Amino acid sequence: MSIGLHYSSGYNSALAEVLPDTHLFDIAKYGHALALVESRLGAERVAPHLRPVTEEVSHTELCLIHSERYLQALETPSVVARALEYPPVEQLSAELVDAEILRPMRLAVNGTIAAAREALMHNRLAFNLAGGYHHASRDRGEGFCLYGDAYLSIVRLRQEGLLGTQDPVLYIDLDAHQGNGMARLCAEHQDEQVVLLDLFNTDIYPQDRVAQQRVDRAVPLISGMTDRTYLGLLRAHLTRAMASVKPRFALYNAGTDILAGDPLGGLNISEEGVRERDRFVLQTLRAAGVPVAVVLGGGYTPQSHRLIANMLCDALMERGESDGAGGACG
Ligand SMILES: [Zn+2]
Repeated sequence: MSIGLHYSSGYNSALAEVLPDTHLFDIAKYGHALALVESRLGAERVAPHLRPVTEEVSHTELCLIHSERYLQALETPSVVARALEYPPVEQLSAELVDAEILRPMRLAVNGTIAAAREALMHNRLAFNLAGGYHHASRDRGEGFCLYGDAYLSIVRLRQEGLLGTQDPVLYIDLDAHQGNGMARLCAEHQDEQVVLLDLFNTDIYPQDRVAQQRVDRAVPLISGMTDRTYLGLLRAHLTRAMASVKPRFALYNAGTDILAGDPLGGLNISEEGVRERDRFVLQTLRAAGVPVAVVLGGGYTPQSHRLIANMLCDALMERGESDGAGGACG
């Protein structure tokens, strides 16, 4: 048994070189996370798990969940600037926006589809080292999210016959923000097979009450919440969801913006708390034999890449130990 790490250096936008002194979003964090895993475990140990993502998701695939009109609107830099909440993008040419913003995201969307495919084909755990654009809906990009990668991966797996139309899917969203785009996409497609579990800070963006009506288990959190309360809620709700759903496949948005000090998340979870969260989710799903694809979601502290590396190291180490190989995992 193996674990897949879907990744492309193309995920890391060069936008920071074009627009120095940028954005909250560390757009090279995916590469930083992978480099840290390699430095802890040794590159030779990570290499067998790497699955290079070489192609972008196609326009035809994006049209499965987005309107043609919306996809065309993304050719206008001011539309992208609004969705990314970053006005300097308006000043860039459409070509540069495509090359440094849209293309990295289209690659990452294909990475989510590829990770989901690997997880289901081989009944294993697969990570996309990006993705988790959970605010994007059919006609709208917002909150740094342009394409609904998680929902699109479910649609594609059904098309490919890997997932039956009646197979229950569990979507677990532990990013600090409400996954409103994912919920809206499920509602728009009248998709009742996808069960949504979302723990999110109700004090912050997006406070989307329409989207919340579609969420099967919406677990409201309040600003400043600490490890003990948070992990208690997670354990209770994931355990109950697993008892009622029996998922054929699970998607996990492991956003790291729940970390204490995150400028957007508003929660007060320690680094060890985030690590425990990820261990609990992945062990619970894998112990039940559920194939799992993980996407990374948000995370706006300089430590975000380290939290991602912790999760990847723990997953690889657990597998390594059962394969009889040991090693240090920071
Ligand atoms: Zn978030």
